[in-house]
Amino acid sequence: MSGQVVVVGGGLAGAKTVEALRSDGYDGRVVLFGAETERPYERPPLSKGYLQGSDERDGAFVHPPDWYAAHDVDLRLGVTVTALDLAARDVVDGSGTRTGWDHLVLATGSEPRRLDVRGAELSGVVALRTLDDSDRLRAELAPGRRVVVVGGGWIGLEVAAAARAAGCEVTVLVRDPLPLLSVLGPELAETFADLHRSNGVDLRVRAEVGAIVAAGDGTTVGAVELADGTLVDADLVVVGIGAAPRVGLARGAGLHVEDGVVVDAHLRSSHPHVLAVGDIARAHHPFLGTHVRVEHWATALNQPDTAAATILGRDEPYDKLPYFFSDQFDLGMEYVGWVGPHGYDRVVVRGDLVGRECVAFWLREGRVLAGMNVNVWDVVDDVQALIRSRDVVDVARLADPDVPLGEVAVTGS
Ligand code: NAP
Repeated sequence: MSGQVVVVGGGLAGAKTVEALRSDGYDGRVVLFGAETERPYERPPLSKGYLQGSDERDGAFVHPPDWYAAHDVDLRLGVTVTALDLAARDVVDGSGTRTGWDHLVLATGSEPRRLDVRGAELSGVVALRTLDDSDRLRAELAPGRRVVVVGGGWIGLEVAAAARAAGCEVTVLVRDPLPLLSVLGPELAETFADLHRSNGVDLRVRAEVGAIVAAGDGTTVGAVELADGTLVDADLVVVGIGAAPRVGLARGAGLHVEDGVVVDAHLRSSHPHVLAVGDIARAHHPFLGTHVRVEHWATALNQPDTAAATILGRDEPYDKLPYFFSDQFDLGMEYVGWVGPHGYDRVVVRGDLVGRECVAFWLREGRVLAGMNVNVWDVVDDVQALIRSRDVVDVARLADPDVPLGEVAVTGS
């Protein structure tokens, strides 16, 4: 089996792709381009354990430094790919060098959205995406510092928890009526609002940022001005208002791009020898029956096995249900499933929602679409099985922690 696979993107998805190729016996040349100078690392610790000081920096890396050479992977760090030439089957990097491929895997990830207001460029207004960002932020979190977090998504809430743990005064500005509202809906989003408030976070909802105001020196942040004119004093502003998939290369090459690179269940793009994995992949999902793009760690971890299988000619569609996890204060959670554009019509909770020890289920027409375990463990497989069964469930049995999840279906559904 000869040839050359080029992987563009040195994050978890790129690193796992080259790993899967080698563990599946691919013996052609493998080139991995990473724009950063760090070798590939995982991002969850950046806003959780590493940011909090409980995880070692080394633990974030996907492989030891010598792994790439030992597996004959040509790792090109600090090299940005600037164009894809599909006709010639080359990628072009920043120095104009062309590298040929028989298969190309795009794993370019996403980049943080920037706050588009006056003062956003001031020193002390930061985003959290890279290990470097996490290093810098970690050094800034110290007792008494006033940290303002813009955005009530995963970055915002995890950073708020880390900053509180470091003894900072923390304000979180959420545009919606609740944090995580668009992901969890009001029933469970309320739980996260309570969690943060009870841990001393000044959580302000329906709070739109109008501008960032400089301190006396004119160059560092001094406050965040809300759209209603309120000033919130700040030594540091962390912006976590979402991410955008990096699809510029794919679009420039004329691949089919919508919200992400459109790929089939084998992760093949509109060019059969170009694949996409991770944040940028808008992949057809056989179980969900539609294309989905999932910006979470588990997708970057798992899709590469499918990409390698496709390159090696095996028929193994990617069919894992979307999954993510978070740790904030004393709350640990996992979420599996997908509610989708048609939404849910009911939330069922088994356990103690107020005490934050429960499993929540999102249902439509009696069937479970997604589930989230909060401080309850070892249930993800059962929740997935329930979702995959598409059984109509008995809501009272679903809510009863004494009934095994395998026994909640309405008989004959
Ligand atoms: P996110 O989870 O998508 O949350 C962004 C939040 O900012 C949303 O609540 C969004 O509200 C809000 N928002 C959007 N534009 C805004 C604006 N102009 N002003 C104020 N709020 C605004 O994104 P993130 O927290 O920035 O995280 C970045 C990426 O990393 C995401 O892909 C995320 O999934 C991933 N991540 C995941 C985890 C995890 O799985 N535990 C942890 C950290 C990061 P709407 O929803 O209403 O638009």
